[in-house]
Amino acid sequence: MQWSNVLASRSSRMKASEIRELLKLLDQPDIISFAGGIPDPALFPVDAFKEAFSEALTTQAKAALQYSVSEGYKPLRDWIAGEMAKIGIPCDAGNILITSGSQQALDYLGKLMLSPKDTALVGWPTYLGALGAFNAYEPNYDRLDPKANRTGADFAATAAAAGGRVKFAYLSVDFANPTGETMDRGAREAVIDLADEMDIAIIEDAAYQTLRFDGQAIPPILALEIARKGSIEDCRTLYCGSFSKSLAPGLRVGWICAAKEIVGRLVLMKQAADLHSSTANQIVTHKVASTIFNAHVAKLRATYMARRDHLLAALAREMPKGVEWTKPEGGMFIWLTLPKGVDGAELLAKSLQSERVAFVPGRAFFADGSNGNTLRLSFSCANEAQIDEGMKRLGRLIRDNT
Ligand code: PMP
Repeated sequence: MQWSNVLASRSSRMKASEIRELLKLLDQPDIISFAGGIPDPALFPVDAFKEAFSEALTTQAKAALQYSVSEGYKPLRDWIAGEMAKIGIPCDAGNILITSGSQQALDYLGKLMLSPKDTALVGWPTYLGALGAFNAYEPNYDRLDPKANRTGADFAATAAAAGGRVKFAYLSVDFANPTGETMDRGAREAVIDLADEMDIAIIEDAAYQTLRFDGQAIPPILALEIARKGSIEDCRTLYCGSFSKSLAPGLRVGWICAAKEIVGRLVLMKQAADLHSSTANQIVTHKVASTIFNAHVAKLRATYMARRDHLLAALAREMPKGVEWTKPEGGMFIWLTLPKGVDGAELLAKSLQSERVAFVPGRAFFADGSNGNTLRLSFSCANEAQIDEGMKRLGRLIRDNT
């Protein structure tokens, strides 16, 4: 079978990244890894989930194992709507669609809005999984840079020259993957101004929103937009939330919060794609979230904050001159900029061979494949001894390669 003869053009944009091969080595026990952007499994609230699964299968087995509505389990949507109200987003269950992780939300939003050659505005760098989700819909990308002062007319002209229209701006606002940085309020307001001017949507990726360690919380873009316009029904922002970083990613429970008009369209998309997210997992997520959410997230914050502090101290001690890094107020990541000419992917290959330290090279996070002299470190799963030893080795390797 010559599979290439039967593939749709969109499949040419779905490529395995070159670093995946290198990262397969991570299973080897002597590697100190800062590569995976995943929660520490030691922190999963296992007892709460055991109890919730047992209760769901004892008292609600028929419902838990049955098909259910595409919008999602109503008590969970009510609970999420209550949490959204606490962060300045008054809404009800009709504004919430449950998705299989926020990754599915990104896929649906790409599918809903992008025709081939349309333009998505994204950060430079941006979450690799968002680029992966959107790529299937064959878009072009343009750089959203709050400091560059480009007007809506500039973006529209560039998109038209590429054969399509700008459809949305995608932003990871708090403790972004991969940089760990947070957009300030002025930048959030400016994105709303730009989107209003261009009449485009805003995708607000809030995957790490609950993991703030310190500093001042900034209202989500959707909250700022509601404050301007009075009601979520008049807003263009699609807020993508997730329980992956706050409870457990294996359950695959996330959500989109937006105006009912667009949620209605997304429900049809969900119906066509997979009917609904796992009923049992939604019931269990609701039980666990409504009992331990705040206490559990407080524990996560304290643990990850101590690891961030330890990694920042190790970087200050071990990195040679010319290396710069971000100082995140939450989340899981620190982003390093290496001296010009040092390539993150080449460094990883050497590091895995001689130093046995893993990280993610930065180039893949740039829609144009630029900025190879960057890398992402995750502190979520590393203990203090691993951080100390890992940074000693990485600092030595960078010094030897500049
Ligand atoms: N957005 C960002 C910024 C992420 O880092 C991730 C996962 N690492 C996701 C979305 C998707 O997460 P999930 O599907 O587990 O909610």
